[in-house]
Amino acid sequence: MRGVCILGATGSIGVSTLDVIRLNIKSYSVIALSANKNIDRLLEQCIEFKPAYAVVVDADLAEDFRKKIALTDAADTEVLSGFEALEYVAQLVETDVVVAAIVGAAGLMSTLAAAKAGKTLLLANKESLVISGDLLMSVVKENNATLLPLDSEHNALFQCMPSLYKTGQTAKGIRKIILTASGGPFLNMNLSDLKKVTVEQACNHPNWSMGQKISVDSATMMNKGLEVIEASYLFNLRADSIDVLVHPQSIIHSMVDYVDGSVLAQLGNPDMRTPIAHALSWPQRQDSGVSALNFIVNNQLSFEAPSYEKFPCLRLAFDALEAKGTAPAILNAANEIAVDAFLSNKIGFLEIATLIEKAINASTVRLADSIETILAVDRETRELTAQLLGEC
Ligand code: NAD
Ligand code: MG
Repeated sequence: MRGVCILGATGSIGVSTLDVIRLNIKSYSVIALSANKNIDRLLEQCIEFKPAYAVVVDADLAEDFRKKIALTDAADTEVLSGFEALEYVAQLVETDVVVAAIVGAAGLMSTLAAAKAGKTLLLANKESLVISGDLLMSVVKENNATLLPLDSEHNALFQCMPSLYKTGQTAKGIRKIILTASGGPFLNMNLSDLKKVTVEQACNHPNWSMGQKISVDSATMMNKGLEVIEASYLFNLRADSIDVLVHPQSIIHSMVDYVDGSVLAQLGNPDMRTPIAHALSWPQRQDSGVSALNFIVNNQLSFEAPSYEKFPCLRLAFDALEAKGTAPAILNAANEIAVDAFLSNKIGFLEIATLIEKAINASTVRLADSIETILAVDRETRELTAQLLGEC
């Protein structure tokens, strides 16, 4: 039995992880589950999985939650609150596997804590790797942690790497990696129509069902940009070895192009339970609940180049990767503020990229040599972007 701690249990990835655990319940013991605000869903999860700990980040909500859970047969679950509690449960001896499924930079410290404790870290929270890339990868290495990607593209790439490959290494014989992108809900819309798109349209992804922030990121293609940076750290490759290829059907989840002309791809129905099941049981395989891929039904696989004109966020992300240092942290913080502003109808869709670019231009890139620097840059960029937003 492996002890699993799920940070961000109530979100899309958290729920899918528990679906896979439910199917393979004899192999796992749920040690801790965390939520930010959705205490009703957390309560249901605790009643079903009886974790030793439940973390509700907000202290007031944690108090409400304590009262509610005391009346159920999950009353033995200890309820903790605060960000430190996320780090605490990630480092428990009983925890073998930490699923980092919090959205945004809010997941950074608990992701780092899991790596410091040498855990098997299943990373969905790409933002933490984007903003602290070199640091997180070195903490993983120094503490002999195992870092396995949950992001479908990176999980696909990991599966296409040579046997015995470990994340952080540069695999031999690779010409490049090809990150596939669905292109999001606005792939075929022209630039002038993009001005008027609504939050609802942006969150309505054609192939994947996901949280709101990553759905908007997919619509702007910032998600692919963040994934390029994520891939560069996970697979130790420079930007010029990473291609983005639009593949609207989301059947090929990514590919590795080897120097001998072989291209290895991982295919499957677009369902996050596949990469989650893979990473949870790696190096074994287990059932995920995902149906077999039907090639007759999915008989049209098409590919095209991404449009940097329509999706400038992708270019901003490549630029941030080239600039290195704190540039990816600046990009990420500005994006989080811009996406929030779009979701609360303060700015239009196309202004997301404009606002991020303004914030980048008004910032200075430094060496990302300590966690203190990274946290300061994250905070400063949020303040700066909020200020620029006020001037919009
Ligand atoms: P979501 O919004 O559905 O869930 C987010 C989870 O994080 C929730 O449990 C929420 O309670 C928690 N959370 C939110 N803000 C928090 C905060 N400030 N402090 C502590 N906890 C907080 O998001 P999601 O779609 O599950 O995505 C989670 C992460 O996984 C993101 O980084 C996303 O980019 C990545 N990811 C998601 C998918 C997907 O299919 N959903 C695919 C690939 C990668
Ligand atoms: Mg992805």
